[in-house]
Amino acid sequence: MAAQSPQLAARRSRFVVVGGGIAGVTCAERLATEFPSDDILLVTASPLIKAVTNFRQVSRTLEEFDVEEQASSILEKRYPNIKVIQSGVKQLKSEEHKIITEAGQEYIYEKLCLCAGAKPKLITERNPFVLGIRDTDSAAEFQKRLARAKRITIVGNGGIALELVYEIEGCEVIWAIKDKAIGNTFFDAGAAEFLIPKLSAVKPEPPIACKRTKYTTAGSEIEQSAAADLGEIGSALGPDWHEGLCLKGAKQLSHKVHIESLCEVKKIYLREEFQQSEKVSLAFPIVQPDERNAEMDEERWPVYVELTSGKIYGCDFIVSATGVVPNVQPFLDGNNFVLGEDGGLTVDKYMHTSLPDIYAAGDICTTSWEPSPVWQQMRLWTQARQMGWYAAKCMAADTLGEPTDMDFCFELFAHVTKFFNYKVVLLGKYNAQGLGSDHELMLRCTKGQEYVKVVMQNGRMLGAVLIGETDLEETFENLILNQMDLSRYGEDLLDPRIDIEDYFD
Ligand code: FAD
Repeated sequence: MAAQSPQLAARRSRFVVVGGGIAGVTCAERLATEFPSDDILLVTASPLIKAVTNFRQVSRTLEEFDVEEQASSILEKRYPNIKVIQSGVKQLKSEEHKIITEAGQEYIYEKLCLCAGAKPKLITERNPFVLGIRDTDSAAEFQKRLARAKRITIVGNGGIALELVYEIEGCEVIWAIKDKAIGNTFFDAGAAEFLIPKLSAVKPEPPIACKRTKYTTAGSEIEQSAAADLGEIGSALGPDWHEGLCLKGAKQLSHKVHIESLCEVKKIYLREEFQQSEKVSLAFPIVQPDERNAEMDEERWPVYVELTSGKIYGCDFIVSATGVVPNVQPFLDGNNFVLGEDGGLTVDKYMHTSLPDIYAAGDICTTSWEPSPVWQQMRLWTQARQMGWYAAKCMAADTLGEPTDMDFCFELFAHVTKFFNYKVVLLGKYNAQGLGSDHELMLRCTKGQEYVKVVMQNGRMLGAVLIGETDLEETFENLILNQMDLSRYGEDLLDPRIDIEDYFD
């Protein structure tokens, strides 16, 4: 007879947070500070947690911080009333205010915050030649396979794809994007044109020390491999995630990227299947996008990608960088959550889901409040931190019967990042999202140096893309926030001879 696991007594806690990523950890930290005499339970599938360090408020809405992956004991030492339980949640019984972990332990909560992140949306789930990059383990697996690869195909046009095509050396890269221009999630065709020369330029030497420390704690390697063995779901990687990795393939070459635009993956063939199909694959194009250079490929590859454009390329493996899906599955059974169009748990302006006493923050949630005209949700590191922080504030206010104001960070979308070694600042409706044709763009571009684009509507600034060291972020942030009528300044707004900061002081 199979041995039955002993029935463990349910533990009770006023606050339970699920997920050890940036949203969950930030939420637990704030609850721990607000309620020092309560135990805050942080239940997470991964043995390491993510902590925000060196937080810097760059301007009213722009923030920068480093991320450290730490052993949970470090968090418990910093906040003695946070207790980290390392086990995945397998079931939520919302009516009983209870979660059940993989280890069979039950936890009864008064208030629960779900911060279980998202999973990569793969072009196909069951192909060993298709990789997604999400966490430390998948990034390490990618690095291992890249070291032996001569050619890979990257599918997708978001931040991860952009970073990969720029960073990878020693390997041919076929980059398949469904849009006309690269980086469609973050900028328009003009900015893409500005960035493209960087793909063939020699890269600057990497900095000696990583700008943001990642996998730092002693013993973390051991714990990471243990996590991999258990098939656990780790936290998403974050800013500078690739800096600790060696992204070099098996060939002696620097950048070699060929872009296939306006196409998607139609079919993937394994080697034998491809040979039987008697189809023809193409060699790596020498000059793009000239069709006449498309020659037949003599080489045999482990896997072949057929694009909707009809072209077929062989490669060692495929990276599916086609976005994420909120990780809601473990919490759905028997619970009538309202889900957003993108599959996330919808949250109102108090980060409250559709079920009583359950909040959500970070990649798992879909905001459903009427946003400020210059804010939109994006599944980014900064928003995971902001939402985790604000969710805790709302949970605390609800518990204490106090009112809550919407956090100021939701007034303006603001993100600072790096693409192709340029500083990139995105503000408001930086890509004219949802503005229809009723808007104007103003541009200023100095090749190889800076690219400035502002989105204007009725004389007011609604968004901006700033690439390079433009020093304009604070002024533009203010202009977007105060919605001043700028009609009379016309083109002067971007005239490099005018010190715009003085202008509006
Ligand atoms: P996560 O960090 O995914 O954390 C989820 C946590 O929940 C994990 O600890 C996990 O173990 C736990 N968990 C999952 N399921 C369960 C369960 N059933 N029970 C218990 N625990 C569970 N954003 C940027 O802003 N800038 C970037 O440059 C950037 N680069 C990125 C690069 C990569 C490769 C990836 C994958 C993402 C990148 N992002 C970037 C996005 C950013 O990492 C995410 O938006 C952010 O990490 C989301 O944080 P989170 O706390 O919501 O979720």
